[in-house]
Amino acid sequence: LMQLAVPLNFIGSVYREIRQGLTDIEQMFDLLEVEPEVSDRADARPLDVTEGRIRFEDVHFNYDPTRGILKGISFEVPPGGTVAIVGPSGAGKSTISRLIFRFYDVGSGRVTIDGQDVRDITQESLRQVVGMVPQDTVLFNDTVGYNIAYGRPSASRAEVEQAAELAQVADFIRMLPDGFDTMVGERGLKLSGGEKQRVAIARTILKAPPILILDEATSALDTATEQEIQASLDYVSKGRTTLVIAHRLSTVINADEIIVLKEGSIAERGTHGELMQSDGLYAGMWRRQLEANKAESQLRKAREAD
Ligand code: ATP
Repeated sequence: LMQLAVPLNFIGSVYREIRQGLTDIEQMFDLLEVEPEVSDRADARPLDVTEGRIRFEDVHFNYDPTRGILKGISFEVPPGGTVAIVGPSGAGKSTISRLIFRFYDVGSGRVTIDGQDVRDITQESLRQVVGMVPQDTVLFNDTVGYNIAYGRPSASRAEVEQAAELAQVADFIRMLPDGFDTMVGERGLKLSGGEKQRVAIARTILKAPPILILDEATSALDTATEQEIQASLDYVSKGRTTLVIAHRLSTVINADEIIVLKEGSIAERGTHGELMQSDGLYAGMWRRQLEANKAESQLRKAREAD
């Protein structure tokens, strides 16, 4: 039996290596945001960014013909401005960000950047211009420094460290066993959701794209982490055209426009002040969030008292 156990063990570890290799490839595709759904037109041109204006013009979209997901969406993110999209789970918020990246083509209507339909430009140029901080960042099985530098591989170590500083993650990284050379990812040190997101923000700061999509994590973060992330997001979005898929209402207060999406249609739109005044869906979401926050802090106090 012993004789058998050794090779089986060996096969087990080879198998794990292969599995891990496959996971790496899957993660790489995730990271490169490769989607086989669309391809460049024969005459596709690189995107020419003049000011960084995003426009949705009466966009209809569905993943499968039986169910409409976006039903006539029109909005504009002005150059350097911030638009936040809020709404219940499944309303179609993330779908909007996928259409900007052209992971899928619209059913009708159009999505343009500086007047150029995203279907007419090369995907490579589109993905260079649009930076994305996703909900769940997948890290390469490599050093944390490499993971940040991936935003701009030619960056120097000093630039990587500066980006980490601006993303409020440098102090954390310096405390790791090997600092910026610490291995992270599935095979290295596992980072928390908030830490991974700050690494993603540092990567984006280094990439410095003119257009930014922030897809906030749905997972609850503690208040301190949320504030740190908020500060680094504020930094990265300054002066850039930014679309925020917001799950936390605290993020949206300062947006130039808030779009409340419901079942694929725009139910309300306006600034925080306007929407609070009109006392509709958005105001209701705020009240619920405030109540949830209150309940949470009471729970925490009760636990601390125990
Ligand atoms: P959440 O806040 O939960 O992230 P969301 O508003 O971002 O939700 P979307 O991810 O845009 O919602 O999804 C909108 C709808 O489209 C959902 O009902 C979802 O089930 C469906 N959907 C999303 N991705 C696909 C897909 N690849 N194929 C088919 N249906 C999809």
